[in-house]
Amino acid sequence: MILLDGKKTSLEIQAEIAEEVKVLKANKGKTPHLAAILVGNDGASQTYVNAKVKACEHVGFQSSLFRYPEDFSEKDLLAKIDALNQDDSIDGFIVQLPLPKHIDVDKVIEQIHPDKDVDGFHPANVGKLVKNFPTYISATPFGIIKLLEHYKIETSGKHCVVIGRSQIVGLPMSILMGRNTYPGNCTVTLCHSRTQNIAEITRQADIIIVALGVPEFLKEDMVKEGAVVIDVGITRIDDPSKARGYRLVGDVDFEKVAPKSSYITPVPGGVGPMTITSLLCNTLLASQKK
Ligand code: NAP
Repeated sequence: MILLDGKKTSLEIQAEIAEEVKVLKANKGKTPHLAAILVGNDGASQTYVNAKVKACEHVGFQSSLFRYPEDFSEKDLLAKIDALNQDDSIDGFIVQLPLPKHIDVDKVIEQIHPDKDVDGFHPANVGKLVKNFPTYISATPFGIIKLLEHYKIETSGKHCVVIGRSQIVGLPMSILMGRNTYPGNCTVTLCHSRTQNIAEITRQADIIIVALGVPEFLKEDMVKEGAVVIDVGITRIDDPSKARGYRLVGDVDFEKVAPKSSYITPVPGGVGPMTITSLLCNTLLASQKK
């Protein structure tokens, strides 16, 4: 079993990004600038946004964080997005999800200018992804693609089972794995909460990408010997023995599944850092395109 070390891989890619930032600064006097909007007080969202800001500093990007209270109105949020769309000093920006319930997420995503949508969530960018045109690929699936590439994992002709069909992870992941390119060329099965006999399907998988948000959902008896296992799930479980009061648990029963797999991502330290690094890649691209 080989551990797919997202932390180490991320740092290597971030070192390459930092070099490109130096070139951009020297040649064009430009520093890539990522902005983030955070609405509300969700603990996990705050942690993710802080990690993104820290990563920006690490590679030499400029970053701006706009924080608003839980009761921030949809109208004001859309107005802020408009302002960022028009702000030439900002190359790309994200609206951290989830948003409070009174805000329509689809409306918010559609308001972001596709050229600045470095999360790759805008319908125009999703359409380009489906057409296999160059675009901002949604950060988590992009990170997984980069990890597969980094470890030179063979994907052609393999059966890839994706569990979870969310707009930001499972669905784009399934499209990417089915593309006529590397990594890709898989036969893809997309599973969700209505899928019958999920274990029978996962047992046939050469590659399993698990993104449903149910801690330790994927058990040893659901995995065939030698499968590649990518765990996207991150759930905070209360744990008084930890200084911060919780621990992070993935969607895979790591202890039992790891010995059966050929490659596997840990949680934390697998997909999470790759997601952040992919966001940096998209921001660098946005900056270079301008
Ligand atoms: P989501 O929007 O809640 O979607 C969950 C998906 O899983 C849905 O398609 C749902 O099916 C499916 N599902 C739920 N229970 C199921 C079950 N028992 N059997 C089969 N399918 C089931 O979640 P998400 O945003 O994709 O996130 C998934 C997990 O990844 C979460 O733990 C999240 O925190 C984590 N995440 C991690 C990163 C990272 O960087 N590592 C990034 C994003 C998300 P239906 O469509 O039928 O409801």
